[in-house]
Amino acid sequence: MDYDTYGSNAVELAIDLANTERDGEWAPAFLRAHDEWFTPETALDLSPAEARRAAATADLVRAVAVAGSQEEVIARLNELLALARPHPYATDHDGELHLHFARPDAPALEQLTTTVAMGLSQVVAQHGWQRLGVCSAEGCDDVYVDTSRNASRRYCSNTCASRSTVAAYRARRKA
Ligand SMILES: [Zn+2]
Ligand SMILES: [Zn+2]
Repeated sequence: MDYDTYGSNAVELAIDLANTERDGEWAPAFLRAHDEWFTPETALDLSPAEARRAAATADLVRAVAVAGSQEEVIARLNELLALARPHPYATDHDGELHLHFARPDAPALEQLTTTVAMGLSQVVAQHGWQRLGVCSAEGCDDVYVDTSRNASRRYCSNTCASRSTVAAYRARRKA
């Protein structure tokens, strides 16, 4: 899996969005924390209605990641893609020539939704929907994209992986 492509980076944006806790001003805070995805002039403030649409996008990303069949994945991906307004353009804003999926003068919500939908779809179409999953650690339901060579990932993060290893070790010792 080529991890250096824009598509893979965009899927990380999708995963981050799905895993973000939604309290208070979470939506503009999320945009500011990921401002490298937005054209510099973009206003990163979202109205409450736009924040609700960002939440709906996040829910759809999660729905794709937890889906149990290809049929389900396709249906949910298409729901997500219906929110996207792709308008690819080439840029080297970070020094490297690459593509962005949303038009540069689109409002923040449109840039977000389009980038997330296209990034997620691209990874699923190229690498298979089994690459997306939900963390197996107890008490964690974060979603992840599996970029490991042999598709063996089960946890959202190293923290959850080592927490589960320790718990399994303790359980074995008790037994
Ligand atoms: Zn870029
Ligand atoms: Zn986790």
